[in-house]
Amino acid sequence: MSFKIPLFDLNFDKSEVDAVVECIESNWISSGPKCQEFETKFASMLNVKHALTMTNCTAALHLAFDVLGIKPGDEVICPSLTFVASVNAIRYVGATPVFCDVISEEDFSINPREIETLITVKTKAIVVVHFAGFPCNMEAIGNLAKKYKLKIIEDACHGPLSEYRGSKLGTIGDIGCFSFFSNKNISTGEGGMIVTNDDELYHLLKLRRSHGMTTMSFQRATGHATAYDVVELGYNFRMDDLRAAIGVVQLAKLPDDLEFRQQVRSWYLEELEPLHSDIWIPYKNNEEYVSNYIFPIVLKTKHEGRRDDLRDFLHSKGIQTSVHYPAVHEFSIYQDFSNMASLPITEFIVAHEVTLPMYSTLKREDIRFISDKLKEFLFS
Ligand SMILES: *Cc1c(COP(=O)(O)O)cnc(C)c1O
Repeated sequence: MSFKIPLFDLNFDKSEVDAVVECIESNWISSGPKCQEFETKFASMLNVKHALTMTNCTAALHLAFDVLGIKPGDEVICPSLTFVASVNAIRYVGATPVFCDVISEEDFSINPREIETLITVKTKAIVVVHFAGFPCNMEAIGNLAKKYKLKIIEDACHGPLSEYRGSKLGTIGDIGCFSFFSNKNISTGEGGMIVTNDDELYHLLKLRRSHGMTTMSFQRATGHATAYDVVELGYNFRMDDLRAAIGVVQLAKLPDDLEFRQQVRSWYLEELEPLHSDIWIPYKNNEEYVSNYIFPIVLKTKHEGRRDDLRDFLHSKGIQTSVHYPAVHEFSIYQDFSNMASLPITEFIVAHEVTLPMYSTLKREDIRFISDKLKEFLFS
């Protein structure tokens, strides 16, 4: 079925096509100058010292835990209200995820006060997810990290260019991870970026991204190196220049794209105002500069049990919706990790949340149409 208004639409045109063709014609398609250009531009736009392209964000998160020395027996505090990769990555290094609830139906960020109650002698790190690109309370979380000597990994997949008090998300903790999967703010098909201000971590990330080898094949092909040693147990988590070429174009479009998304968000806020006793709009009073990756709403208790019917109704009107997210602690493979978890707010949200369409080319009429259909259902 094709929807009249999809959840997401690619912001692609001839410039992405040209960038890929140019890369193919350059005769260098694996990791090389385009990856470096993407990294340099990304680091500069985020005002961070180091950025490294990655195959995807899942690999970036894995490598973050790896270089931070998180290991079996360690505990990592994380939200359950996230995409499963944020938690799976903790387990790739053998550590134990400890689920923490979010703040409220109107703020899907991990709750700093709850974090503190979950800290034990085994706790080594905190994963924060900046939901929809809205920042977590990094001051409170940073203070906890200092007090208990914990590392902070920012899953900033939803928030390229988003800010918290003037700093870009992903650049505030020890390591920040980004995704360029098709439906993210920057789309390269698959793809990701890892950023840090720490020189030592950068050095390790760079080595372990590519088998722990001391030189890359591009350096050898261009005569800058003829041999290599392997000095770390690494992986192949590299991006290729075909994707990086798309990424460079997408990155340049991002500031304008985010401005249009902000406009779409303000239309939603206006049109949905009459529904204020029926739904919550998370981060309604946000004043930070944000990416608006998605537009979530939460049905209030008086609409208990109607979420899936609402989604079916909207789908029948040609409006695609989604749910962000099914709770990670409720997945089969997390049963052994979730028996101790008390996550009432997360559990309420996952049963009452609906994600409405959000992308930069949505028109005022689209938002009015979606809002009218919501009213038609919720007022009936
Ligand atoms: C998309 C996403 C990921 C995974 O990114 P990939 O690039 O697909 O591996 C991880 N965490 C969050 C919050 C995401 O939205």
